[in-house]
Amino acid sequence: MIIVLKSGSTDAQVEDVCRRIRGMGYTPHTIRGELRTVIGAVGDDRGKERLRSLESLEIVEAVTPILKPFKLASLEVRSEPTRIRVGDAEIGGNRIAVMAGPCSVESREQVLEVATKVKAAGACILRGGAFKPRTSPYAFQGLEEEGLKYLAEARRETGLPVITEVMEPDKVDLVAEHSDILQIGARNVQNFSLLRKVGQAGKPVLLKRGMSTSIQEWLLSAEYVLAGGNPNVILCERGIRTFETATRFTLDLNAVPVVKRLTHLPVVVDPSHGTGHWEYVEAMACAGIAAGADGLIIEVHPKPEEALSDGPQSLKPEKFAALMTRVRKVAAAMDREV
Ligand code: PEP
Ligand code: MN
Repeated sequence: MIIVLKSGSTDAQVEDVCRRIRGMGYTPHTIRGELRTVIGAVGDDRGKERLRSLESLEIVEAVTPILKPFKLASLEVRSEPTRIRVGDAEIGGNRIAVMAGPCSVESREQVLEVATKVKAAGACILRGGAFKPRTSPYAFQGLEEEGLKYLAEARRETGLPVITEVMEPDKVDLVAEHSDILQIGARNVQNFSLLRKVGQAGKPVLLKRGMSTSIQEWLLSAEYVLAGGNPNVILCERGIRTFETATRFTLDLNAVPVVKRLTHLPVVVDPSHGTGHWEYVEAMACAGIAAGADGLIIEVHPKPEEALSDGPQSLKPEKFAALMTRVRKVAAAMDREV
């Protein structure tokens, strides 16, 4: 921690703060500038809340951490990129991983048709929601366990690994039984008991950024999963809330290079939720790859006009195939494959 003192601090005041720091079990390192004095407190990070209390002293301007608050997610701890293998797919290597499928699993036929078509277009992972986090309690809530079974059947038919959302700690074992990657949705990014539970699940976790979470909060959520013993976390930027209303959310592509500079975890972009309109999905998918993302997650529906959720942002399979052609070119420009 760094303790910044207000200008004009006297030697006696500096010594008083140092004495308090020592009293908390830390070693103070004082740097006296012309105007300000800064004290570095070195020691066990776990007591840092106590150090923070020093901010209540009149003479103290601010108490700020030195190290990043997330550790296992940080490049300070691991400098090699994390690569996550699921079936024949890998996330975090040179190849861009494209996950595609319907927002919600609606029927056996729907999911089998989409799975076959997205695979033919080059997707390597099938997405589909069986437990849906809907804003309204009256909206379609998903087929639940029946939906999981259809996804597992589509996996057997196509060989594509499956990603699906889990919303409650009590359902983690059930969802993990039928799927290959556990998706934590934007609305649950700070559901800490769920994060702890998926930390023990033994399946990779795709952690969506919350619509109002800072990058630091998002990485601390990833830290919960990592600290729980699960090293396989994929970050997903899916758009944040801003003042703009022309799109459903604002896809924060800044997050991609920022997160790449802070962590070794792979990051994927969700241009479907990020824009909310199918017409913008291809442009933002390409932009995500150009920004350095390791993958994409995209909603595809055979009949978007009849979808039970997120129809306006879902691509028809032909449009998805066209997107893949364009994405391949952008990936090649970035020295990556799809
Ligand atoms: C989804 O992937 O269908 C979904 C609900 O996403 P998000 O949590 O990002 O809103
Ligand atoms: Mn959706």
